[in-house]
Amino acid sequence: MKIVVLGAGYVGLTTGACLAELGHHLTCCDIDHARVAALRQAEIPIYEPGLAELVSAQMTAGRLEFSANAEDAVRSADAVFLAVGTPSDQGGGIDLSFVMAAAAGIAPHLRKQAVLIVKSTVVAGTAQQIKALVDKTRGNSDIPVGSNPEFLREGSAIGDFMHADRIVIGADDPRTEAVLREIYKPLVRTGIPLVSTRTVNAELIKYAANALLALKIGFINDVADLCEAVGGDVTAVADGIGRDSRIGPGFLAAGPGFGGSCFPKDTRAFASTGRQHGAPQPLIEALIDGNDRRKRSLAQRIIDATPDGGRVAILGTSFKANTDDVREAASLTIVPALLAAGLDVHAHDPQPGAAKRLLDGISWHETPIGAVRSADVTVILTEWDEYRSLEPNRLAAAMRGRTVLDFRNVLAGEKVASAGLHYHSLGRPSVV
Ligand code: NAD
Repeated sequence: MKIVVLGAGYVGLTTGACLAELGHHLTCCDIDHARVAALRQAEIPIYEPGLAELVSAQMTAGRLEFSANAEDAVRSADAVFLAVGTPSDQGGGIDLSFVMAAAAGIAPHLRKQAVLIVKSTVVAGTAQQIKALVDKTRGNSDIPVGSNPEFLREGSAIGDFMHADRIVIGADDPRTEAVLREIYKPLVRTGIPLVSTRTVNAELIKYAANALLALKIGFINDVADLCEAVGGDVTAVADGIGRDSRIGPGFLAAGPGFGGSCFPKDTRAFASTGRQHGAPQPLIEALIDGNDRRKRSLAQRIIDATPDGGRVAILGTSFKANTDDVREAASLTIVPALLAAGLDVHAHDPQPGAAKRLLDGISWHETPIGAVRSADVTVILTEWDEYRSLEPNRLAAAMRGRTVLDFRNVLAGEKVASAGLHYHSLGRPSVV
């Protein structure tokens, strides 16, 4: 099939490269001309394991190309995916202006056999809203609009796409459903279940899934607080509950509060949709508050552990390991709070590009040991493997102070303490 993807970010680029790998002919379009120019040279603007290799292989195979001219690209497309950003708006809802602008821009140029598919995460009813816009722009209703929410995780995007737990397609007409089934046929043949439903349900599935996953994270963080208060160990508790097949082991790692481009924005949008439609979501409202509060209270924990004007090493600024994405990362709340408290902040991240643009007033280091040198307090904020394998004796020799705050529970407390350091993690007993 000839497919166009609008938006060459984490989702659009992964979708484009993976659909090309499945045998379709793909054109990925972006309004960012510099991004398109780089992609044409097989230079990938984001850090996502395996993506550069896949993009390059598909370009060589002649199945993947890039364009800044979407109007032209869509003229011969069988299907056009919208994978542009849907950021939060001021009131916690989502800003649909990028999606609407992208749809309006290409609407007059679509062939009448084409279908338009919304892959961006959008609130319930958006596909139908886009359909109304496209109909109005074209002066007829020949283009159907479907929904195909994306569940990939940054850091494992290709594997998540190619080996998804399920593919959700939303269609309000048989043509859209048939096109989407055809596109995903190679994956369905490998045994991946395909859930076919109406567009409004597909849109709700995406938000409800993310809200429930975020609730698991928020819940285990609250359990971690209780473990600290009563002398328990959240790792043991999470293991014990996660083995219950009704619960499952995923998303039960205590940490500094969820961040990234999806959970914070999607939970806010879910809550906002509920308020707007008179169906409040009190669990999610409380989750959002608790998550924000957690980041601030962990910042205070660092401040309390550091001498006035002291030096803090932050290991990890990305919102999680294996990504350079720093959107709504805990570091963006914690680092400014440390600076406001007059602390001297030194940081390391294996992929610091985006963080360097957003975090002013701190010193960056090429290695973790460089960042912790002469630090009074070392804080592990992202669970990169590089930090898991930190040698406690080297850490102890480099630091000026003795305090290690492991907000990802990646180090073995006993080993850290035997190097003469004071080890504090989340929801586990301190070892000093
Ligand atoms: P992103 O910011 O990485 O990429 C969006 C891209 O769209 C940018 O390159 C931007 O220049 C481009 N763009 C904006 N307007 C355009 C237009 N009119 N035409 C062509 N390109 C345009 O965003 P992302 O992280 O890939 O997210 C895209 C959508 O997918 C969002 O709705 C997001 O919520 C959803 N989503 C993201 C993830 C994730 O892990 N990042 C996972 C699932 C779903």
